[in-house]
Amino acid sequence: MTRILNLINGQLLPASGDQWLTSINPATGQAHAELPDSDAADMQQAVAAAVAAAPAWRQLDPETRADWLFRLADALEARQDTLARAECDDNGKPLWLAASVDIPRAVQNFRFFAAGLLHRSSTAHLRPGFLNVTLQQPLGVGGCISPWNLPLYLLSWKIAPALAAGNTVVAKPSEITPLTAFLLSSIAQEIELPAGVLNLVHGTGPRVGEALCAHPDVKGISFTGSTATGAAIARVAAPQFKKLSLEMGGKNAAIIFADCDYERMLAEVLRSSFSNQGQICLCTSRLLIERSLYERLRADLVAGVQALRVGDPLEASTQQGAVVSAAHQQKILSCLATARAEGARVLCGGATVSLSGRCADGYFVAPTVLEGLGPQSQTNQTEIFGPVITLQPFESEAEALQLANASPYGLACSIWTQNLPQAQRLSQQVEAGLIWFNSWMKRDLRTPFGGIKQSGLGHEGGWQAFEFWSETRNVCWAD
Ligand code: NAD
Repeated sequence: MTRILNLINGQLLPASGDQWLTSINPATGQAHAELPDSDAADMQQAVAAAVAAAPAWRQLDPETRADWLFRLADALEARQDTLARAECDDNGKPLWLAASVDIPRAVQNFRFFAAGLLHRSSTAHLRPGFLNVTLQQPLGVGGCISPWNLPLYLLSWKIAPALAAGNTVVAKPSEITPLTAFLLSSIAQEIELPAGVLNLVHGTGPRVGEALCAHPDVKGISFTGSTATGAAIARVAAPQFKKLSLEMGGKNAAIIFADCDYERMLAEVLRSSFSNQGQICLCTSRLLIERSLYERLRADLVAGVQALRVGDPLEASTQQGAVVSAAHQQKILSCLATARAEGARVLCGGATVSLSGRCADGYFVAPTVLEGLGPQSQTNQTEIFGPVITLQPFESEAEALQLANASPYGLACSIWTQNLPQAQRLSQQVEAGLIWFNSWMKRDLRTPFGGIKQSGLGHEGGWQAFEFWSETRNVCWAD
């Protein structure tokens, strides 16, 4: 069994209280690692190390700082097979998915922000008699808190811009999927990243996550996770006026009009609904379908969903791996019980899947399609974060819009139509931070990313991430 350690001040350490948590491989149901159950004392030590390392790190010239990030990226890339396997074992996602998306994207995150740093410059405005210069200075110590669904991809998307902007970092990965963060710690040590620049403290949210958010020396918090945790973090961090970026839950709609490119839409909607067992914040969970297309699409969707192969994440033919934990499997089942109680018709799925051999004790859920629920049902209002979608018909563009917006969340929406004016109108009225036309999850890393309503506060990615991790000083030079 792997013994995971914290990275504090360049050292790999157990929790000071020598307490441990167990990490379970969700595909097998077996313990595969133990991790430090750290507490506020460990967090205090990590923040102190980050504070001590901050002056030297911020004074490095951009080329040197960027070079450290490029070296991290290269070292991660050299270990991509090990990282992909670790992510698969931690999370239950198919190995091919971790190897083709999660790990390459984590490498890219470091390269992207390293390159961005090299091209970043201050702005100056010259007037007769004076010159205004806008300086972007690092905040100091940044706190990064990440979830379990894309463990290294999302952690690196926070750490990379924070370091690039000249901050030192204390990160708290999800306690449910700690392995890839531990490998990142070993890599940071191996390339001799200066001590204290990157610190990773393992443990639970209430013990170490909250201590990170409450620490007065941590000037900004970038969080990705559930809306409930985001609210808890805001309650702790906001009174100290920390910068906050909160990327939270979603209940994303796909609006499907009868004039869409049908085959393309069908393939993409299956992917958008069930990738990573529906455990991507951007996954589609509410399919709104123009009435004239409803019967046809329902039949094709159910056939497509039933054909998805649930299996051992290590097998290349597996399309649906395990959901992340026994607790999450139970949560999904309880949401399905609620859906049934609300009158949902289960068109396919709706239960666990039992596999044999290595995965006999794993946590698998059959991809599920539900219909017959109104927009205000609990099932259509609450994030399930699993392989479950609902179907709702609509008669008109206005009704489609009403259904799409009948959610407390506002993360993402995809719109399937060939009617450009209709698409233009909807893009201005759909309440979501990310809107795709005839596509899903395509994005350029330079564009800002973030939800609205209960899905998010602030943006991540692109130049916005540099801005988030900086404080602005306007300096005026007069004659
Ligand atoms: P979670 O909120 O339970 O945990 C996220 C992280 O917060 C973990 O590291 C956890 O230990 C920590 N945490 C928990 N309580 C804390 C506290 N009081 N103070 C500080 N930290 C605390 O979320 P999860 O179950 O790991 O992830 C799933 C959720 O993440 C879903 O809601 C999903 O939609 C969301 N998500 C959102 C995005 C996005 O970009 N909007 C991306 C991925 C996942």
